[in-house]
Amino acid sequence: MCDSFSEFQPVTWSRICRTSNLINCLILALPRLLLASIAASFGASSTSSLSSRKISSRNHHVDPTMADINVDVLIIGMGPTGLGAAKRLNQIDGPSWLILDSSEKAGGLASTDVTPEGFLYDVGGHVIFSHYKYFDDCIDEALPKEDDWFTHQRISYVRYKGLWVPYPFQNNISMLPKEDQVKCIDGLIDSALECRVANTKPKDFDEWILRMTGQGVADIFMRPYNYKVWAVPTTKMQCQWLGERVAAPDIKTVTKNVILNKVAGNWGPNATFRFPARDGTGGIWIAVADTLPKEKKRFGKQGTVTKVDAEKKTVSLADGTTIGYGKLISTMAVDHLAEKMGKQELISLSKGLFYSTTHVIGVGVRGERPERIGDKCWLYFPEDNCPFYRATIFSNYSPYNQPQAGEKLPTLYLADGTKGSSEAKEGPYWSIMLEVSESSMKPVDVENLLKDSIQGLINTEMLKPEDEVVSTYHRSFDHGYPTPTLEREGVLKELLPKLQDMDIYSRGRFGSWRYEVGNQDHSFMLGVEAADHIVNGAVELTLNYPDFINTRQNGERRLAQSYNFSKKPEVNGSAVLPTRERASSKVTANGTAHSRKSSKQVK
Ligand SMILES: Cc1cc2nc3c(=O)[nH]c(=O)nc-3n(C[C@H](O)[C@H](O)[C@H](O)COP(=O)(O)OP(=O)(O)OC[C@H]3O[C@@H](n4cnc5c(N)ncnc54)[C@H](O)[C@@H]3O)c2cc1C
Repeated sequence: MCDSFSEFQPVTWSRICRTSNLINCLILALPRLLLASIAASFGASSTSSLSSRKISSRNHHVDPTMADINVDVLIIGMGPTGLGAAKRLNQIDGPSWLILDSSEKAGGLASTDVTPEGFLYDVGGHVIFSHYKYFDDCIDEALPKEDDWFTHQRISYVRYKGLWVPYPFQNNISMLPKEDQVKCIDGLIDSALECRVANTKPKDFDEWILRMTGQGVADIFMRPYNYKVWAVPTTKMQCQWLGERVAAPDIKTVTKNVILNKVAGNWGPNATFRFPARDGTGGIWIAVADTLPKEKKRFGKQGTVTKVDAEKKTVSLADGTTIGYGKLISTMAVDHLAEKMGKQELISLSKGLFYSTTHVIGVGVRGERPERIGDKCWLYFPEDNCPFYRATIFSNYSPYNQPQAGEKLPTLYLADGTKGSSEAKEGPYWSIMLEVSESSMKPVDVENLLKDSIQGLINTEMLKPEDEVVSTYHRSFDHGYPTPTLEREGVLKELLPKLQDMDIYSRGRFGSWRYEVGNQDHSFMLGVEAADHIVNGAVELTLNYPDFINTRQNGERRLAQSYNFSKKPEVNGSAVLPTRERASSKVTANGTAHSRKSSKQVK
């Protein structure tokens, strides 16, 4: 088993692993080995400056005369992955580093837009559920006050035949009409019997669904819903990515619940979740970026990578600057990276990866939040009476996600499309955020998508025809979901090592393309672990062992552990952490400022 690590392992690790239990050695020895090898690599004194210290690179040495700026580690992208890498390098205070982003703010796909009317929208439903203490430490350091966060209990349903079936659907078939209950139980019994004699693994996601949930649940919910989410048929997806993500029904409990007419309890890893009180999900990443030194961050034109020259180990930027690097951590989509490198072999390989586009649609509504909506968080829609697969009641996450009640806004139109009053009136307001997927296998009528979505909200009784729409939002994110296709692993196992041989670490949601480790916490840790690997050869657990990471709380690495061997001032034995500079205003999608009220002003 240890052999599978050898590709990414330094000598120390492979020796240790040969003689001891792998998992124990990874968990128990990681912090000590990190300390020891960092100390050995960098000596006792260390002050970080650009190009202060060269780290060894596999094939080339940076020629400092070839570039305007030279660093040991260059990070492309200030989404969670890039920020994880930067945070770790900043903490280690060893190799010199610099971080770039083509956008004017940090956050990437975990950003938040604000409409001109003052409604906030994330890139679809983003909630924090963390598998890592280090991740928690970093976001808590960035947003340290109690009132920076709200904690919510997940209240989630599936819309089916006009009913709200509690999530997860497959555990709550007791809520379905009788004929559907019979279909589902029938399929569950068949699948349980077949599972007893099956001696092969399911060959794809579709077979996995059939084996786990049976024909009835597959036809009613799993197949149509997953096609709506992924924009590819379930027969084209593999099933290794699933791990903890899909609830497997227990036939005895399901049958008992049907007979007793009971609802199954809260399931899964995100049964409770927290959400930032202000500035949406994007506020977290702006605050994390604010904990890093200003002179090591470049945004906009000054941070836009136009070319990567792997031979010369330089990166060209849109403002004409060239940056020489020892190691490159790239978090842009790996197919885009291949294009920037101009290497035909890599471009062709990366074309074997599949992705879907995510459309995010927001609807701001005047009025008290209706009873039918209540405190619902997010809702799933498997049927074809609406284009969206998920709706989030974004106004339920924070009272700062929409304008305050006293704000006066005109009505754009009523939900049924008829003209409303153009006179600006006060709120209160509430909002819905919708997600629609698109791919070459699932085209979308983009031009009419907003209109069709609002009609879908009426069809599913989320909106009444006479509801006053005061704000709308529609933005599409070309790379939204990295699809776990049957071909994915074959491509990644060739592509990522080829890049790494050139000292390029492609990591992140689309950098390393593994959906199962593509959430914010995973992405952040992909960056942290890439930095650790570069500095001292530590194993990248998240990249290489998703199941291991996803089935435990990863608490070994902590932010308060000091890996800084320079004599920095300490408070109560731990290193002084940088203070947070909160953005006092927010730039909106169209460039206007959005002022924020303090928590005391909002009820
Ligand atoms: C619809 C949807 C729902 C999600 N829901 C959740 C959720 O509930 N919980 C959760 O934890 N996560 C969720 N995620 C995942 C989360 O958004 C990702 O984990 C995270 O944003 C990925 O971070 P990243 O840094 O790998 O990539 P990105 O966020 O994509 O960051 C890459 C960065 O690289 C920059 N870049 C690209 N090209 C260049 C260039 N040429 N030059 C310079 N910079 C460049 C981009 O501007 C960007 O900032 C969701 C994502 C989506 C799309």
